[in-house]
Amino acid sequence: MSTADTATLSPLQRFRERINQIKQYEEILGVVYWDMRTGAPRKGIELRSEAVGALSSESFKLSTSDEMGELLAKLNEPELQAELSEIDRRLVAETSKEYERNRKIPPELYREYVVLTSQAESAWEEAKENNDFAGFVPYLEKIIAINRQFIELWGVKTTPYDTLLDMYEPGLTTVELDRLFGELRARLVPLAEQIANSSNKPNTSFLEGTFDKEAQKKFSKLILKDMGYDFEAGRLDESVHPFATGLSIGDVRITTRYLPDDITSALFGTIHEGGHALYEQNINPELARTTLSTGTSMGIHESQSRLWENIVGRSLGFWTRYLPDLKEHFPGQLDGVTAEEFYRGINVVQPSLIRIEADELTYNLHIMIRYEIEKMLFNENLNPRDLPEVWNKKYSEALGITPDNDSEGVLQDVHWSGGAFGYFPSYSLGNMYGAQMMDVARRKLPHLDDQIAAGQLLPLKEWLTEQVYQYGKLLQPAEIIERISGKPLQSSYLCDYLENKYREIYRL
Ligand code: ZN
Repeated sequence: MSTADTATLSPLQRFRERINQIKQYEEILGVVYWDMRTGAPRKGIELRSEAVGALSSESFKLSTSDEMGELLAKLNEPELQAELSEIDRRLVAETSKEYERNRKIPPELYREYVVLTSQAESAWEEAKENNDFAGFVPYLEKIIAINRQFIELWGVKTTPYDTLLDMYEPGLTTVELDRLFGELRARLVPLAEQIANSSNKPNTSFLEGTFDKEAQKKFSKLILKDMGYDFEAGRLDESVHPFATGLSIGDVRITTRYLPDDITSALFGTIHEGGHALYEQNINPELARTTLSTGTSMGIHESQSRLWENIVGRSLGFWTRYLPDLKEHFPGQLDGVTAEEFYRGINVVQPSLIRIEADELTYNLHIMIRYEIEKMLFNENLNPRDLPEVWNKKYSEALGITPDNDSEGVLQDVHWSGGAFGYFPSYSLGNMYGAQMMDVARRKLPHLDDQIAAGQLLPLKEWLTEQVYQYGKLLQPAEIIERISGKPLQSSYLCDYLENKYREIYRL
């Protein structure tokens, strides 16, 4: 665009053009990432990474430019603010926050951090493979040290860890999380113990066997279609680590992983990613071309994947409807199994060492442990060298088991190697938000359970679109849950739901 053209545009128009440009870069980067994770040739990865780096830094430059700073300063003036639409006002607020945050980091420090975290990921992989925590410690120490510098530069909110939390769940504090996780601990640890002591163990033998991959794929697509996933605005592919990616409202892709000897992996993985995708596909089109056309927080995003995967997908009603279909896809393999048996079998609770293999109940305890440890690292100066000892002690207290080695203990997750401290709580927040939303949904849609048991999943999808999806980032997480339930986030809905479900399954 020539200077003459630019001069005739208002600050708002120029701002929206820049935002559109950033969004376009993000979409292209998203396609490239999707390609890299769904089968791009290995030999091309190195050059591709450089291309990604080049485009990312262009996008970063746009969002931190002096021009952006001037436009934001103008648009934040009271006279101009008053004239902005609700969408523009929120867009300016959100962009200003990002701008402030990014401008506070010296570019050299940022570059150092990007290089460090990319090296740390390979170091972590190696350490995990060789059970060599000591080999990973130097990386962890540096990553934590730089994060401390970031926190200082951004400004400490109440505690240093609060500053990190705010990046993933805006507005959430450690005071709030201490309360929520304290309540989860008080109710879920005893529940897990009661289950462990119950003699009514569900039968899971019918889940063993070999399940045809094509049939798994067909069944996954059938469920997605019934959930209202729009295949004209998305596609289902395969990857080692399943994910969903919203490139634009009209292109939201998901991946899953088919294991021949485990039918539940693709099944629940697909429903999970499908839940993320419904969110991104149903954002109000007015938010397209803006950075507001995405989920409002990691916690709210996880609430949608987990609500669909667990509260809907692991319910008795759901399998009353879909077990006959599943049997048809795998002739002769599940013949004698009743819906009740299937439901009990897929809801077995078993304290385990590995988070990603955990059941719906104990998953929250894995997250609680990580939250407590991250807080100790940043607020109590826990020495990273002492992590294995602290980790093992907490596992023994909360789950009654202790890992034999660090590979299946403190080294199991990729998150810290990428510097993602403050991310883990999102998973349990998702479970809590989801249970609270579902409680309201049941009251607003009195036939909901019958509908689910009849395979009518669209009324729930439409209700969630109206309450959550359409807003994208226009509303903050706290506003979403307050508007839906008239209350802030509470842990009691999740605890009630889990207690009712498992008391019945385990006849407690
Ligand atoms: Zn997820």
